[in-house]
Amino acid sequence: MNFQDSFTKELFEKLFSGEKKSVYNFLKIEIDELYKKAKEENFTGPIVELFRKLLKYREMDNISAESFGFTKEQLFELAEKHRQIDEHGVTVGGRVLRALPIVEEANSRVAEYLAKKDTEAPSGIELWDQIVENKKKIQEILGISNEEWNTYSGQLKYAIEDVETLSKIIDLPAKAIKDVLRVTQNYRMRLTPYYASLIMPGNINDPVLLQSVPTGEMVDNVGVEIPPVAADHSPARLIDQFYPRVVTIKSTNMCAMYCTHCLRIAHIGKKDRIYNKQAYEEALNYIRNNKYIRDVLVTGGDAFVLPNKLLKWLLDELDSIEHVKMKRIGTRIPVTTPQRIDDELLDILEESNDKKPLRVVTQINTAQEITPVSREAFKQISKRVSAVLNQAVLLKGINDTKVKMWKLCETIQEAYVRPYYVFNCSYRNPQFAHMRVPIEVGQDIIEGMYGNISGDAIPRYIATAGGKIPLHRTNVVDRVNGEIILRKPWSGEEVKYPDANPDMYYNDDKFAFKKYYE
Ligand SMILES: *Cc1c(COP(=O)(O)O)cnc(C)c1O
Ligand code: SF4
Repeated sequence: MNFQDSFTKELFEKLFSGEKKSVYNFLKIEIDELYKKAKEENFTGPIVELFRKLLKYREMDNISAESFGFTKEQLFELAEKHRQIDEHGVTVGGRVLRALPIVEEANSRVAEYLAKKDTEAPSGIELWDQIVENKKKIQEILGISNEEWNTYSGQLKYAIEDVETLSKIIDLPAKAIKDVLRVTQNYRMRLTPYYASLIMPGNINDPVLLQSVPTGEMVDNVGVEIPPVAADHSPARLIDQFYPRVVTIKSTNMCAMYCTHCLRIAHIGKKDRIYNKQAYEEALNYIRNNKYIRDVLVTGGDAFVLPNKLLKWLLDELDSIEHVKMKRIGTRIPVTTPQRIDDELLDILEESNDKKPLRVVTQINTAQEITPVSREAFKQISKRVSAVLNQAVLLKGINDTKVKMWKLCETIQEAYVRPYYVFNCSYRNPQFAHMRVPIEVGQDIIEGMYGNISGDAIPRYIATAGGKIPLHRTNVVDRVNGEIILRKPWSGEEVKYPDANPDMYYNDDKFAFKKYYE
């Protein structure tokens, strides 16, 4: 018998090496039916199914294929048929002995995640019924009409800024209320009613609550001077620059909602400040006069806090600078106050994106923050700009397990947002200390994604320390005689990988067409 490949040969050897014995009638009927289908239909499916079943009975009970009345020739005919149908000439042996077990093995890597993702890390879409309940309650307590709820100005008008109002909406222990009151003497707390509606009642450490209401070291270190973000990176008014070709314009110090883990906490909040045009002009002049600059990030605070007219003016000015080739806008508002995303704003984004690529960079830290409302906002934005990217912060109790972080990345991807960075929470502010996560934990979480979820749902893991420094472990285990040993992140398996020939790379002065011009 001329087997198509060693896999098919191996499969036949296995199938016919078992014992010939009598089998239960129902097994015989099952196999007969599969055989009939495999012979009659012009599909590979029934053939694969038949061989799989035969292999299963051989492996479980040592039953030879002969026990079902098969000759080698009969089955060989089916193996041939399989190969002929398959467009790529894949053999039934390869499929049954290799491909299917590999898929099963891969499935087992994500089984635990799939079992836990909706209970350990439910999205705001899955929690929507409860969020609607919360919304009704908040509207009643604060006296917010539906109309006001659905507008940005309404959300800001009723923003929750003091612990007294907060405690009407969320059950907080008396001691916590006292502590928050103390912290908020210095710290600007603010939740929009919409963002507050994402907090799940009864969960004492709700991940949305932890991001918006001070706890832990913020309480213990109340009043401690927070180191300002380094002035040594601000070469011009409103400008931060770590890199030659990318700069940020800190366009405002305001946000719609303030985060307990905010890296810019020393500059943000406290007192709302509208910057005057002169400040923006000075920033723009710095960019105009520095031809190296190619990519400009309009950040804050939150850049969507800017009135539409001002945002449009800024984007227009940037688009008119020839060496500026692309722009980014940093905003959390689609997550915290999606009501801000109106048609006028969307038109401005599209108009600027038509001139030069515009990306929106947001911050989503839990799947819980993706609701039907924020998903819709991101969908609308994604239609008008060249990309919507997420920069999450790795935070204890919020997204510091595989299940939570994977679920976050998958959920935002399903909401038109691409995971871009995950930042390790900064060491600079003692008030964040309780939310920090060891780097190794972050590495396991992020690197565990390789091979297990879509590649474009995998963010890069970053430390911010005078610029962004990647924290990923390398997968290069060793280097032996021009070969490197690579480790597959998802299985730990080590594979040899020949490196490029350095002689050819560095010393080939007759490279490609060059050899014709001796
Ligand atoms: C984050 C950041 C950038 C952008 O970095 P990318 O790696 O290009 O996303 C640029 N400038 C400053 C000051 C930043 O904080
Ligand atoms: S939205 Fe950004 S800038 Fe504003 S408080 Fe949160 S982390 Fe800070």
